[in-house]
Amino acid sequence: DILNVNHSIGVYGNVAQTQRSKTDYIGRFAPSPSGLLHLGSLVAAVGSYLQTKANVGKWLLRIEDLDPPREVAGATDAILRSLEAHGLHWDENVTYQSKRTEIYQEVLDRLLNSHHAYPCSCSRKEIAALANTGELGVIYPGTCRNGPTQPEREHLSYRLRTKNAFIAFDDIRLGRRSQHLHRDLGDFVIKRTDGYFAYQLAVVVDDSLQGITEIVRGEDLLSNTPRQIYLQIILGYPTPRYLHLPLVTNSQGKKLCKQHHAPALKNSKASENIVTALDFLGHTPPKFLSSAEPVELLDWATKNWKPEKLPLFATFKGKN
Ligand code: GLU
Repeated sequence: DILNVNHSIGVYGNVAQTQRSKTDYIGRFAPSPSGLLHLGSLVAAVGSYLQTKANVGKWLLRIEDLDPPREVAGATDAILRSLEAHGLHWDENVTYQSKRTEIYQEVLDRLLNSHHAYPCSCSRKEIAALANTGELGVIYPGTCRNGPTQPEREHLSYRLRTKNAFIAFDDIRLGRRSQHLHRDLGDFVIKRTDGYFAYQLAVVVDDSLQGITEIVRGEDLLSNTPRQIYLQIILGYPTPRYLHLPLVTNSQGKKLCKQHHAPALKNSKASENIVTALDFLGHTPPKFLSSAEPVELLDWATKNWKPEKLPLFATFKGKN
């Protein structure tokens, strides 16, 4: 079985969506306030901004603050200021996931009522003792599929029932990708034992309610996309198009991220940072713009933006 999402033939994409005119384009940047922006996040922001503006679209900003234990105090404000300093001005009001938990709960209830989701009482340890590990990590063995084995436990998680099928989609940069959720991952968590909603659920609900037509983000999230498409299919949401951008890596070839102590962007070097990001994305600005402001650089890049110029492999390694 292949659950096929192909916009050119519109198998699962909704027809209205595939026929949208350019002005209906809605893109987004969705940082988590678990740290400050670094060059890797700037590349994602710039790529998504340019792809949106080149399509005369609206660029929305959503703060994914659904995970308080991982949040860094002051990060949200710093992210907003950093985006502004880099000329990345968003449209409409900022959305905060922390204010939307009632909506996520409604969707979870819907999934529970339709038996697409179920409560799970397994602890991590119990799963690890039984489970196989695949490329995507631990494969949930389905222990609680027919009801939680320890229903008396105070803290349950909620999982989405996966199907014995491949999910396929066409990434604008990487081409056709597919994943077998049930075999490679098993039923996955949509609400955590600690009571917080999982990224997978929240991102799908928000992308749909905000009418996002195309998701442009780092390739580190590529392996999450089939889970998100599967949720969209179950919830009857249209599937947006996807463009996953190359990842900036450090000198050890690891992606830049907070855990690897990627240095925060300096707002005082905004123009330089934008030039670096554009260069990385295969859109090196001409010499006469070498001392231009971020907004001028972004205007030039919007006019000259061609997603087919995005490198297939990352060519730049961060200094760190
Ligand atoms: N909040 C996620 C992150 O910062 C990104 C979500 C997305 O773009 O889908 O990694």
